[in-house]
Amino acid sequence: PRGLALLRDPLLNKGTGFTEQERDALGLRGFLPAGVLSMQAQAERILVNLRSLPSDLEKYVALNALHDRNEALFFRVVCDNIDEIQPLIYTPTVGLACQKYGLIFQRPRGLFISANDRGRIAEILANWPYRAKLIVVTDGERILGLGDLGANGMGIPVGKLSLYSACAGIHPEECLPVMLDVGTNNEEFLKDPYYIGLRQKRITGAAYDEFVDEFMTAARAAFPGVLIQFEDFANHAAFKLLHKYRDDACVFNDDIQGTAAVALAGLFSALRITGGRLRDQRVLFLGAGEAATGIADLVVSAMMAEGLSEAEALQRNWLTDSRGLVVKGRENLHGHKLRYAHEQAPLGDFLTSIRTLKPTAIIGVAAVGGAFTPEVLQAMAELNERPIIFALSNPTSKAECSAEAAYRYTQGRALFACGSPYDPVKLDGKTFVPRQGNNSYIFPGVGLGAIASGARLVTDEMFMAAAHTLANCVTGADLEQGSLYPALPRIREVSALIGAAVAGVAYQNGLASGPAPNDLLGFVEQKMYDPRY
Ligand code: NAP
Ligand code: MN
Repeated sequence: PRGLALLRDPLLNKGTGFTEQERDALGLRGFLPAGVLSMQAQAERILVNLRSLPSDLEKYVALNALHDRNEALFFRVVCDNIDEIQPLIYTPTVGLACQKYGLIFQRPRGLFISANDRGRIAEILANWPYRAKLIVVTDGERILGLGDLGANGMGIPVGKLSLYSACAGIHPEECLPVMLDVGTNNEEFLKDPYYIGLRQKRITGAAYDEFVDEFMTAARAAFPGVLIQFEDFANHAAFKLLHKYRDDACVFNDDIQGTAAVALAGLFSALRITGGRLRDQRVLFLGAGEAATGIADLVVSAMMAEGLSEAEALQRNWLTDSRGLVVKGRENLHGHKLRYAHEQAPLGDFLTSIRTLKPTAIIGVAAVGGAFTPEVLQAMAELNERPIIFALSNPTSKAECSAEAAYRYTQGRALFACGSPYDPVKLDGKTFVPRQGNNSYIFPGVGLGAIASGARLVTDEMFMAAAHTLANCVTGADLEQGSLYPALPRIREVSALIGAAVAGVAYQNGLASGPAPNDLLGFVEQKMYDPRY
């Protein structure tokens, strides 16, 4: 494209950054003011504007508009200011943005495929003008810990794919966000005149399965080899879809598998501080859904790698669901919980479970804000010299406890990780720097490695490799200040290392297409998109 069309193509537009020569050659004369700005100056200008905005939601909208106008500049700003920007384009702000999506919706991004499109999904995918290598797809039924947000949940695939490009250099052109709009059971949205989605209850059962299957078949035909990430499906659908497709297609579920790897990496870091071994830990989860069972399954595998039998490893992991501790003999337990239903009389509340089971670690993934009460934290501190406390639920309103509370009620002894960002905490003259046990440390690198190697499948071994790699990126200085994860500004370096490790697994296990390169890290790095003009 040339002229105005070029200025309106976000993948090519440089705005005031077009040079004099480009302005001549590309028919841009007259459309731009005389001043030519460097990308650096443009990025600074964006930040000045952004920081003057009064609310995070307005910042989200402004960043979205930039994304729609000039992708390279958007990603430059995100990459160079990841600490400041990630919370605005992803959790926690993206949660609020999804709740208000009907109001803030401007230019569409990605593909909206609704239940009314049955029978012609292939046709819709053929409308997409780029060759997708990575799809993040949701049906909006469990957005963060906020529940059913229907088509408004599109904010999540959009945000995740932005992080793929920013954190791991997946080219924006190769990224496709997809909303499978099967309706919503959110009564408020069904009444909301500005709701953007299909105004009907969710389709279920065979109609739902066939709809998703039509999408999966069409997507793999339209984009051979494409990596498909399932995101924020409710857990009944999430487990089913993952098991249905994982042995045959290049898919993973980030809520189950990505979360698992990031949490396991946090445990490895915590153990570097305590000097303990994973196989000796007792882990009590608040939650028994995608995140909890995903993490527990990977912890069990890792404990087995340290020499425990499967039965021994399972016995060290306990789940709590909305009806209390998961124990043997409870009625109507869902399949994904059964491995963890141990012989034990039902216990009362979470605090009683702690006093009885004496966990060394508690991991909150139930989206129940404030569930780690001062009493819970104090009990953990009585039982353990260095209690491991992960409050992973998102967004911030759903966090089991704040960083401040975790340190305060354990006299600064907690080894803490959180799902959404918290500022450093000062306590008794010491400063603690809590870091997010956020999947964004894991999925970008996993995607990079899988795409770079042309992996046919995404395996648990890849997530295990990702967890080890992430834990190895944590420095002594990080641990010194209580940080269980590396600093976020190192994310591209971390993602490249994870990408190399994941690609390595693909080559080793005959899952890659093409011969293994000698220098895996260099091979992966050279594929990374760097947002520059
Ligand atoms: P999910 O599959 O819906 O699971 C939620 C679980 O919480 C269910 O097992 C549910 O019990 C249980 N629960 C609900 N109320 C409870 C209560 N009062 N006490 C104890 N358990 C209760 O959701 P998910 O995918 O696991 O996600 C859960 C949370 O983790 C969300 O906030 C999500 O944002 C967060 N998360 C964070 C990260 C991260 O990177 N930090 C990653 C993934 C997820 P039932 O089984 O009885 O319904
Ligand atoms: Mn998610």
